[in-house]
Amino acid sequence: MRLVMKFGGVSVADGAKFRKVGSIVQRYVSRGDQVAVVTSAMHSVTNTLTDAATQASRKKRDYVKKAADDLAERHRKAAEDSIEDKEIRARTLESLSATCEDLKNVLLGIAHIGELTPRSRDYVLGFGERLSAPLLASVLEDLGLKARAFTGGEVGIVTDDDYGSAQPLMNVTTLQVRQALEPLMEDGVTPVISGFIAQTQEGIQTTMGRGGSDFTASIVGASIRCDEVWVWKDVDGLMTANPKLVKNAKFIDSISFAEAMELAHFGAEVIHPKALECAARYQLPFRVKSIADPDRQGSSIVSEAKVKDGDVVKAITNINDVDLITVSGASMVGTPRLPAKVLQILTDEAIDVLMISQSSSEESITLAIPKEGGSKAQNALELSLLGSKQVREVSMEAGLSIVAVVGAGMRGTPGVAARVFTTMAREGINIRAIAQGSSELNISFIIKRKDTERAVQALHDDFKLGG
Ligand code: ASP
Ligand code: MG
Repeated sequence: MRLVMKFGGVSVADGAKFRKVGSIVQRYVSRGDQVAVVTSAMHSVTNTLTDAATQASRKKRDYVKKAADDLAERHRKAAEDSIEDKEIRARTLESLSATCEDLKNVLLGIAHIGELTPRSRDYVLGFGERLSAPLLASVLEDLGLKARAFTGGEVGIVTDDDYGSAQPLMNVTTLQVRQALEPLMEDGVTPVISGFIAQTQEGIQTTMGRGGSDFTASIVGASIRCDEVWVWKDVDGLMTANPKLVKNAKFIDSISFAEAMELAHFGAEVIHPKALECAARYQLPFRVKSIADPDRQGSSIVSEAKVKDGDVVKAITNINDVDLITVSGASMVGTPRLPAKVLQILTDEAIDVLMISQSSSEESITLAIPKEGGSKAQNALELSLLGSKQVREVSMEAGLSIVAVVGAGMRGTPGVAARVFTTMAREGINIRAIAQGSSELNISFIIKRKDTERAVQALHDDFKLGG
């Protein structure tokens, strides 16, 4: 098989984990598979870099020097713990140390002028993956494989210049990546590609948004027309509910892209939504595999969900700690621009809206917002709207959760909502707001934070999702 294997930061958090990842790749290559590897930065490194970039812009020279030294030390240790061969180890240490020196110079340069542009920020953020990919390639070599490291740009991923959230130009990208990788892979070389980073047509480094390594895996998979993309995790696969809340939660064998996307939006992000979107477009099957148990099939994510009879609901997910903002006023009736305005105000404040519902009387709009954004959202909406006559009040309620019931089988099956709300009524759980996407793939509703566990368990039981 031709596979793309993606490893996240937690999977390459230290030397022992690099070794473990190496042995997984080796196992499939020696079985005869062609594997392209995509890796994230070591765990928390991108956060450290984000922080260092900000401190550099505040001219904190000592802080950024220390951050660069700490990162150098962490990668040095990981290399020493994961590479046995002296020659490979020495070569790797030398190249890691040169990259870290470059990082330090860049940070000190930023600190010198005290200016951080989106472009230089992306350059700093990319160092995590520019360190982890060569390190992993060396580990593979140490295990006897022919391996070669690439950055996203080197392998041919070209994006626009929307730094921090760059979009790949898929036509040239797929062509270039295919030309770069296919001959190598046919020659028995295992490419190791830095996730998350790419470059503009002018060769300036960009990043494709936090969590973007999954996206890289999709892009590479689409380019080399692989059989499957395997996303390796330290969980055993996708589950019918959070196993911390629901003891008898079960593994999901197969789920559609659309369903997985709903899960991603509702707090159970296993694969980045951009990666799923790209995979759906190129009909690229994904599989979530367990590092701890590679023999396990894992959960496959495919174009069309298999809907078995009676299998209406796939999973119950939840997001804890949301605030509910309600914008109300009788003269909102028939003012269609108001909802757009509300959303624009929140977008301008960079506040994430998790769920929206509007009463059909149009007297109010209710929005669910992650806890950190609630007060900020209320302030911004009050400032902009209270003078407008249409709006009487912007109120906020804190301490809530969203519960979402997800499944393709819900489409066109009457009575699912009734069942959900009957279950909630039986449990005596009050529902504060409800939303259903027109795709009918999910019903989401808001309840008190303290009722979440009981609600998820009751629905999980009621739809017989448990093992
Ligand atoms: N290292 C990047 C991040 O932390 C990309 C990724 O891990 O997917 O956001
Ligand atoms: Mg991730």
